Amino acid sequence: MDFEERDGVAVQPGGRWLKTVVAGNPGPLTLDGTRTYLLGGDPCVVVDPGPDLADHLDALEVGLGAAELGAICITHHHADHAAGAAELALRSGALLAALPESAELAGLEPPEIPLSPGASVVFGGGHLDVIPAPGHCPDHVCFHWPEAGALFTGDTILGEGSSLIAPPDGDVAAYLSTLERLAQLELTVIYPGHGPLIDEPAEKIDEYIKHRLLREMQVLEALTAGADTPAQIRARVYPDLDARLLSAAEGSVLAHLTKLMSEGRVRTADDRYLPVG
Ligand SMILES: [Zn+2]
Repeated sequence: MDFEERDGVAVQPGGRWLKTVVAGNPGPLTLDGTRTYLLGGDPCVVVDPGPDLADHLDALEVGLGAAELGAICITHHHADHAAGAAELALRSGALLAALPESAELAGLEPPEIPLSPGASVVFGGGHLDVIPAPGHCPDHVCFHWPEAGALFTGDTILGEGSSLIAPPDGDVAAYLSTLERLAQLELTVIYPGHGPLIDEPAEKIDEYIKHRLLREMQVLEALTAGADTPAQIRARVYPDLDARLLSAAEGSVLAHLTKLMSEGRVRTADDRYLPVG
């Protein structure tokens, strides 16, 4: 079922609505800023309160209007998604709904609604199912809103470009399994943590899987061509990169190397990476 856009609010029959509030934290990795989603009807939930910025939290209060905020849901512990949770909870009286490890890593109090894979958060618009989504970081979950055909992906799938899978948090093998899991869901729309909504979810998930496998092939080709440090491999795989993204790209190469080593397809010798076979 598609949402219909009315005065900046996406609405569906049955009283379901969604408002998007973009935080003022733009950057090369956050794109135009973290997206916080308010979901209704009453009581509402928030998916990713975003950074702890007063302007952003003010905008969330305006977005909520007179509606009651029941729960603050967090996709993962990174500050650009979770740091505003404590202040928003203070202002609204809403309960924190998060994996206990996400709350701990984010420096928040233990969640009043501790989440686990398969759990659901019930609110006025239906319920949000917790889908385990490790890869970007081990404590990442996505939220599936089956009544609306919507998935909230945090940093697992972005509205533009690809998401960052890099050490110490990133795990490419886990990420690919997560994408396969998300591909099984019945979706009409993805609301990412950064960038615009995705109205062809199946195509986007497929594109993401192919993109990771292509990167892996490029890393192997660079190794075969004689590049044997993450920096050399990065220069071959990402030749024309914005300087602000160089260390992220090198981290992404390292994450691929880690996966390939665990599969016995790459080995190290004297701090150099070498293809096996
Ligand atoms: Zn993140």
